[in-house]
Amino acid sequence: MDTSAAADESFGIEVIIPEGDKTAPCCPHGPTLLFEKVAKGGEKGRRFYACSACRDRKDCNFFQWEDDKVSEARLLAREAENKAKRPPFSQKEYIKRFKKFASLQLHEKKFCEDCQMLLLSGDLSTHYSHKSKAITAAELSRPSALLRPLDNKKSNAQYLFTDRSSYFLLDTLAGLGYRKVLNVGTPRLHEMIKLRNLEQKHEPMKSLLLDIDFRYAQFYNKDEFCHYNMFNHHFFDGEASSSVLQAFLKESDGEKVVMVADPPFGGLVKPLANTFSLISQTWRKLQSSDNSDVDMPMIWIFPYFFEPRILECLPSFIMLDYQVDYDNHPLYKHGKTGRKQSPVRLFTNIFPKDIVLPKEEGYRFCSICERYVWSLNKHCAKCNVCPSKDGREWKHCSACGKCAKPSWRHCQSCGHCALPDHPCGLSQGKEGCFNCGSLKHKRKGCPLKDSHRISNHWSKAKSGNKNVSHRPLFKPKAKRKSGAARRAKKAAAQSK
Ligand code: SAH
Ligand code: ZN
Ligand code: ZN
Ligand code: ZN
Ligand code: ZN
Repeated sequence: MDTSAAADESFGIEVIIPEGDKTAPCCPHGPTLLFEKVAKGGEKGRRFYACSACRDRKDCNFFQWEDDKVSEARLLAREAENKAKRPPFSQKEYIKRFKKFASLQLHEKKFCEDCQMLLLSGDLSTHYSHKSKAITAAELSRPSALLRPLDNKKSNAQYLFTDRSSYFLLDTLAGLGYRKVLNVGTPRLHEMIKLRNLEQKHEPMKSLLLDIDFRYAQFYNKDEFCHYNMFNHHFFDGEASSSVLQAFLKESDGEKVVMVADPPFGGLVKPLANTFSLISQTWRKLQSSDNSDVDMPMIWIFPYFFEPRILECLPSFIMLDYQVDYDNHPLYKHGKTGRKQSPVRLFTNIFPKDIVLPKEEGYRFCSICERYVWSLNKHCAKCNVCPSKDGREWKHCSACGKCAKPSWRHCQSCGHCALPDHPCGLSQGKEGCFNCGSLKHKRKGCPLKDSHRISNHWSKAKSGNKNVSHRPLFKPKAKRKSGAARRAKKAAAQSK
């Protein structure tokens, strides 16, 4: 069986978030996720475990049916494989090495480009035939510029923020009074915070980086970096790291904490949302005051076409118009530059009116929506929202009773707006509902869709309180397909 196709939700594969304390088998990336194939007619398919972090079987080929009996020999072999795939050093060893490296003379400080590692004097003989270079203090303080960005398209491509986007995020968060930033998959933001502290012009901010890229362990102390998988909330270093997170989340001396996450865009929304709500729960338990129904402030950076999926899982979140752009992504550039606009946005449970988007870049405040919007996102009096998602000016269609993309036209036979060259009459009904098989609606509109299993602990995370800036964090919803193919299809459709 091809696990890369299996783990791809586009074929009607759903992630099942564990309900009890049933433990999943582990791959080198920690506990695997449980997937279920959903067949037409809503029948549940056989469930299987596959890697949480890798969308491509080339990167991790773990596969196990849920009801498989795994032999002792197989378990031992698996454990050996997991061990073999661990980083070359433990986090403790990395910290020791980091201290040693820091004490070297400037001319002794070397970095092996082939192995992407800082070299101590004892390593030189092993790396002598490799490409290595001397490294300066400035380079040491900017690991995200020193390390070669990972470029595995499917699982782990690293796209680094431009200065524009990093400073925007930093200044905004500092301005809102946050003094601690939990960086989940945002190594560049983490280092910017440390550099900003050195300037001594601002109130210092604390920063903790959680990332699966263990190369970063070479540059940070134990309370600054944890080797972590955000798809299963797994700390590779176990208790030692999870207690670092706990200590960080405790807001002693009134230091407000905020999370910023920039997951790989191929990632599955549901497990990410689950992780973020677990982090929020941990945070909530650690707060002394009576904010039992407040959620931790968070910013989740992701492409705009995931909005429905994200809001389905985290209904207290709202998408902002700010376009995040990246240094090493040729397409994801800010609109003003004349290049293609970035589709990447901020999803947050912070009050949108508090996040001031820069006027000089073309954002304005909509006093009706009470949020900052992109200049071309004009408020529609009929819909009573600023409707644009993609940065273009949308137009109201009176037949549909809502706004649509400028390139779309109302189609009489489909009964809704679509691209002029859409496969007419085919868009609705023909494939039927994936959940119950009816030809009258799609799964989205299925009256039975909520009858599916709802994870307990997600429902518990629900709580309503209108007085705080965050609404209940997590909401279980019906199953829906997503995944690379659907994303690609959607992205293509959305960009027209
Ligand atoms: N824009 C960010 C980088 C985002 S790229 C910045 O400039 O700081 C995505 C990041 O998520 C990378 O750092 C990558 O190593 C990390 N990542 C990818 N998969 C992950 C996983 N399963 N768990 C934790 N971090 C992951
Ligand atoms: Zn794996
Ligand atoms: Zn508006
Ligand atoms: Zn409208
Ligand atoms: Zn229409």
